[in-house]
Amino acid sequence: MANCILCSTELKFINTPTFGSGKLNDGSIVCTSCFKKINNADPKMAFKLKNHSLNDIKNLFDEKATKNEQALSRLEEIKIQIRQLNLTNSASFLGRKEINELPNILAQSEIIDNIVQGTYNNGHGILISTNRRLVFIDKGILYGLKVEDFPLDKISSIQYETGLLLGGIKIYTSGNTAKIDNIEKLSARTFSEFVRDKLSKPNNSVNNVASEVNILDQLEKLAKLKESGILSEDEFNEQKKKFLEKL
Ligand SMILES: [Zn+2]
Repeated sequence: MANCILCSTELKFINTPTFGSGKLNDGSIVCTSCFKKINNADPKMAFKLKNHSLNDIKNLFDEKATKNEQALSRLEEIKIQIRQLNLTNSASFLGRKEINELPNILAQSEIIDNIVQGTYNNGHGILISTNRRLVFIDKGILYGLKVEDFPLDKISSIQYETGLLLGGIKIYTSGNTAKIDNIEKLSARTFSEFVRDKLSKPNNSVNNVASEVNILDQLEKLAKLKESGILSEDEFNEQKKKFLEKL
């Protein structure tokens, strides 16, 4: 009998895929466990293995390995971000299963600036603040992954309330209120104050560009008013000075 073209295991009846489904385009064969690996990586390729070469399979596995590595290094990056937040209980965050999902949930350029643990809609999870949004992530055993997004520009306000030991955070968006409960008291307060601060200073570049454009626009209008004689040279210069001070 022949051997598996990938792992060299001797092919017997018991480890040879049925109906020739393990056969490649050159007639060589893969064993059932290698066939399963191909099927996991690319079911379409496994389904029509006879159209593919050994090289196709090797490339497939390489691609898969690269993707896994990228996800892994992104996860490391995220964990470093979380450690650098210097949260008192960062070890308990890093142990949560939601953390492993973050490479798939967060954009490449998204930066975590705060986290709390709590419950939302009966699920226990983490509320993350990033440079773009708040996002509640809850990975349950039975129902899988739940992700709820609150983009910063949709949040009208954020409030906290505290009891004896635990606190809650209310996120107000247009027409909706989300309440995250059972947050450690002090964290509920620092988190919501942090987000409130962030919401109160619209320091993103989009806004700055918009106001610059607006000022230039108004200057142009002023210039037209001067041209048409409505404003005198002095009046124009005075207004112009005021506008330029705003830039
Ligand atoms: Zn094999």
